[in-house]
Amino acid sequence: MGSYASHHLVIAIDGPAASGKSSVARQLARQLGFIYVNSGAIYRAITWHLLQNKILPDQSERINEALNSAALTCDVRDDEARIVVNDIDPAGHLRDDRVNESVSRVSKLPRVREIVSRRLHDCAEGRDVVIEGRDIGSVVFPDTPYKFYIDASPEVRLQRRAAQGERDEITIRDRDDVSRAVSPLVKAKDAHLIDTSHVTVQQVVTEIMTRLEQLGLPISDVRITNRALGE
Ligand code: C5P
Repeated sequence: MGSYASHHLVIAIDGPAASGKSSVARQLARQLGFIYVNSGAIYRAITWHLLQNKILPDQSERINEALNSAALTCDVRDDEARIVVNDIDPAGHLRDDRVNESVSRVSKLPRVREIVSRRLHDCAEGRDVVIEGRDIGSVVFPDTPYKFYIDASPEVRLQRRAAQGERDEITIRDRDDVSRAVSPLVKAKDAHLIDTSHVTVQQVVTEIMTRLEQLGLPISDVRITNRALGE
């Protein structure tokens, strides 16, 4: 293995809805100087684009056609990857009720998963990234040694969503995500499990950093190199 600087690293953070993965992944990326990538946002952007075009999640043929003619690009701004659809950034619509209701049904389609996986590889090309999702460690980047599975009790997850003031049926989404045929939500065998029910975001980030060091990642070299690249 060469020096750290000759490698591009992927840290995979998977887990169910409202488990705390977004806060943890974003803070971890900031502390390491990595790019933060939210793969759920890509599934949401695709779902929003389909709904805008009056295409429903069960119309798989129309979905495939729409995706063949859509330009989906991964744009990195402010240390965060964003998905742009036909030159439109749908960031303001990703948590609309109708997107929450449809996203799991759209994301079970193999063609959709293939496209998102490709975009995630584009985002990671030539960069150090923290990617959050459902299948990042199990399917999209199975070779990364840095895999974490973030969970919390169902009660805590429901409370967190309610506190965010969102109408989001996470129990239904989780059931769909766990039971789908292609790339279901699953803890990769070699992922490190963290229960976030009763700990702070910073405590989880610290546990991840400790684990990364145990796995041989030189955290201070990583920080210094990424800080220098960002200047
Ligand atoms: O992470 P978030 O809750 O925003 O994800 C929205 C939905 O996108 C999930 O419920 C799931 O259906 C889908 N998703 C997925 N695979 C990923 C990330 C998200 O299927 N890697």
